[in-house]
Amino acid sequence: MEGKTLVVGAGVFGLSAALELHARGADVCVLEKGTVPDPLASSTDISKLIRMDYGADTFYTQLMEQALPRWEAWNSRQPSPLYHQTGFLLLKRSPLEPGCFEGDSLRLLRARGHALERLDAVRLGQRFPNWSGSPFCDGYYNPRAGWAASGEVVGWLAQQLRAAGATLREGVRCAGLLEEGGRVRGVTLASGEQVEAERVLLAVGAWTPKLLPELSDRMWPVAQDVFHFRPADPEAFSAELFPPWAADIGRSGWYGFCALADGTLKVARHGIGRRVDPDAVRAIASGREATMRAFFSECLPRLVGAQKLHERVCLYCDTFDGDFWLAEHPQRPGLFVMAGGSGHGFKFAPVLGEIAADVLEGRANPWAARFAWRSAGGRRGEDARCLDAG
Ligand SMILES: Cc1cc2nc3c(=O)[nH]c(=O)nc-3n(C[C@H](O)[C@H](O)[C@H](O)COP(=O)(O)OP(=O)(O)OC[C@H]3O[C@@H](n4cnc5c(N)ncnc54)[C@H](O)[C@@H]3O)c2cc1C
Repeated sequence: MEGKTLVVGAGVFGLSAALELHARGADVCVLEKGTVPDPLASSTDISKLIRMDYGADTFYTQLMEQALPRWEAWNSRQPSPLYHQTGFLLLKRSPLEPGCFEGDSLRLLRARGHALERLDAVRLGQRFPNWSGSPFCDGYYNPRAGWAASGEVVGWLAQQLRAAGATLREGVRCAGLLEEGGRVRGVTLASGEQVEAERVLLAVGAWTPKLLPELSDRMWPVAQDVFHFRPADPEAFSAELFPPWAADIGRSGWYGFCALADGTLKVARHGIGRRVDPDAVRAIASGREATMRAFFSECLPRLVGAQKLHERVCLYCDTFDGDFWLAEHPQRPGLFVMAGGSGHGFKFAPVLGEIAADVLEGRANPWAARFAWRSAGGRRGEDARCLDAG
């Protein structure tokens, strides 16, 4: 690819794209307004779910089948794993019928040859005792899933990029685009500096509509509250006894993780969230912790008194249809957008870079059509939106 490529944003989207473009011989420079990883970025946290359950949606299920071996390949390139294959529990308060997210996930994954362990209430309590006596009467355990140390993954990608010789600048905020002759030719930084390039990839997550207001009817930042706890007995919440889970997530939004090596256990509640300005001061919604402890009281009583270590407001960049956005701007040639993670983008990190590089190079890619530039076609139902969690 001729000329320089600027990637704005060093979250998991921007970094995976930059790494692949650099590997293909492109001259890549990444600009990040904060640090890498940045505490306010969506990609940054102690953990993200890596799972292949997508209801009846074959597209994301297949994309995840491609991503999993690549997570394993990433693991093999460094001493301690980035992806922890602990398995994943999908639980429901009612039978896994066709037509519900969990029931459709079960059927599609089985049809595709995945070995799932079906769990009724009795078996659930025997296998994973923290769930004993909980209201979940049906579900399954998928051993081919787990979690990724998300902040570490971002740091590792940045390290790979720098070691490969690409430029990554921290503390530089892109304030606008340089346009000349009907084409985007670079960016202007908040400092006033102009950085010229042949093409620009905007990978700024929840900040996308700030730089491109024309997209604000199709994607928007949504605040989601996340809590880190320390159980009184973290060993009872190790991955073998308490793998990452989602508990009736399509209806309730609850999901969480095993205790990590330092005893920290993350729990969150996926939902519609609150539309916010990504640069506004972030605050947890009132009453959120009490609601979470009420959930513990009903479903995970050993966590009721767990010490809260940290709370965090994380931003989804939600698209109107829940699909990612990866395409050239139709009215501004030279400008590409990679955003719209919609609360479920992290797990695809090892495959997104390749799709992005193909889009920038103008090569056909079988996955790219779903992420194409599109007009707002109305919102999906709230239930469907809920199913994209994690
Ligand atoms: C609470 C929560 C839980 C989630 N759980 C999961 C999960 O379990 N599994 C999963 O697969 N996905 C999950 N996701 C979704 C996933 O985290 C995102 O889809 C993914 O991280 C998006 O990455 P990104 O690179 O687009 O955005 P970000 O990580 O936000 O990166 C954007 C970067 O751009 C920078 N930037 C912004 N504006 C500018 C500017 N003007 N100039 C320069 N730099 C700029 C920001 O500082 C930031 O570093 C979750 C998200 C949240 C919020």
